[in-house]
Amino acid sequence: MISPENPPQVAIVGGGYAGMAAAVTLARRQVPVTVFEAGPVLGGRARRVAIHGVALDNGLHILIGAYRETLRLIAEVQAAPADVLLRLPLDWHMHQRLQLRAPRLPAPLHLAAALLTAKGANWRERFAAVRMMHALRGANFRLPHDASVSDLLAGHGQGPVLTRYLWEPLCVAALNTPPGDASAQLFLNVLRDGLNGDRAGSDLLISRVDLGALFPEPAARYVRARGGTVLTGCRVTAIHPLASGFQVTAGTAAQHFSHVICALPPHQVAGFLGGISALSGAAALADALEYQPITSAYFQFDGRVKLPAPMTGLPQGVAHWLFDREAICGQRGLVGAVISAEGPHHSLTQDVLAERVLREMGEHFGPLPPLQWQRVITEKRATFSATPALKRPAQQTPLQNFWLAGDYTAGDYPATLEAAVQSGIVCARGILGDTAAL
Ligand SMILES: Cc1cc2nc3c(=O)[nH]c(=O)nc-3n(C[C@H](O)[C@H](O)[C@H](O)COP(=O)(O)OP(=O)(O)OC[C@H]3O[C@@H](n4cnc5c(N)ncnc54)[C@H](O)[C@@H]3O)c2cc1C
Repeated sequence: MISPENPPQVAIVGGGYAGMAAAVTLARRQVPVTVFEAGPVLGGRARRVAIHGVALDNGLHILIGAYRETLRLIAEVQAAPADVLLRLPLDWHMHQRLQLRAPRLPAPLHLAAALLTAKGANWRERFAAVRMMHALRGANFRLPHDASVSDLLAGHGQGPVLTRYLWEPLCVAALNTPPGDASAQLFLNVLRDGLNGDRAGSDLLISRVDLGALFPEPAARYVRARGGTVLTGCRVTAIHPLASGFQVTAGTAAQHFSHVICALPPHQVAGFLGGISALSGAAALADALEYQPITSAYFQFDGRVKLPAPMTGLPQGVAHWLFDREAICGQRGLVGAVISAEGPHHSLTQDVLAERVLREMGEHFGPLPPLQWQRVITEKRATFSATPALKRPAQQTPLQNFWLAGDYTAGDYPATLEAAVQSGIVCARGILGDTAAL
């Protein structure tokens, strides 16, 4: 029985955004937690990497204003949250093809105005888009049966310009899954909160600090200050259920805990849970997931490459989005490029890919300053494939006091920071006996 005299002893296995969200939520209530993180730094798929002495990330990330829980926890652990995130009102800039800006009007008027004034699309397309959003709102953004995003767009008569330069890139950016394979319901959940919620929900937020410094590291300080333990470079090798509680083994040390939150990446979950019969269902669901890659490339130039927007979409070619790191966080001459999901670019070597992206930048934005260095990072299992009607394991498992956290667990969102954070909070609240919905 949990009580102030008898608090749960919680092991959190994995120090990504999910694990650290659980740790903060428990630490706030003075519950002693121990976070085990195998890597040298916290953050998992959203972590700092040092390249040529510059603190960068394994992948360029964006957040949206609708990431309610992520933003709340960042605000809780950061001394000056407003300084670490660049907040931009929705400005969809597909270079030379489509531009869409949300004026400062109350939702959903801001979206209707953005669609109706979209530069690059004709009136017929703009009205079709407003009609679609109106119909989706009328249906509460729920579909009777899940389908693909392509089918959804075709069913609502979306024209070629908005399909190609707004909806499809939005689908790939949000779900990291090609529109023909992506779940329309998950896409609608993102539209509901991102474009149809309050006006701030559609803001884009880009971190001015690396992704470790954005949340997991201040979260670790927060946890330690409340009596918790956060270990890095500490790989868990086994989790054994006991008659009462669990034995968690890391290296040669085995420790006893009353509760476990397993916040591992999904492809490692089955290996840990497979031998525990009560968890075989959850293990099978995790094992059945398929994955999509994300490639990020960094280019350090001798001088500024002036891009039209802090985040500029390239409508054709290999790179999807360019990030002007000088405008975002003052990293002089640094440009980041993102290529989401699977595609023909995966047959290219990293050098050829970088060369192509450089060529595209030159074609769009004129002669480039001399290049000092470049680095391409591909995360092969960046996210699960967000396919229609996908079954995801619940956070609460049939094994008492054993919880699952991670972006792949059941939830409204595709594999994102917000999905990870929400799952961690659900686990922590479950342990605390707090059943209020998120
Ligand atoms: C390149 C890239 C770009 C992305 N872009 C975006 C974006 O723009 N916006 C967005 O919202 N999301 C984005 N995502 C998705 C987002 O990063 C993930 O959804 C989120 O980070 C997942 O967090 P998690 O805690 O669920 O899992 P993970 O981050 O995978 O955390 C699991 C942790 O467990 C640790 N671990 C593994 N094995 C062990 C072990 N045996 N013992 C102890 N620890 C172990 C791992 O090292 C890791 O730290 C992107 C992802 C990638 C890879």
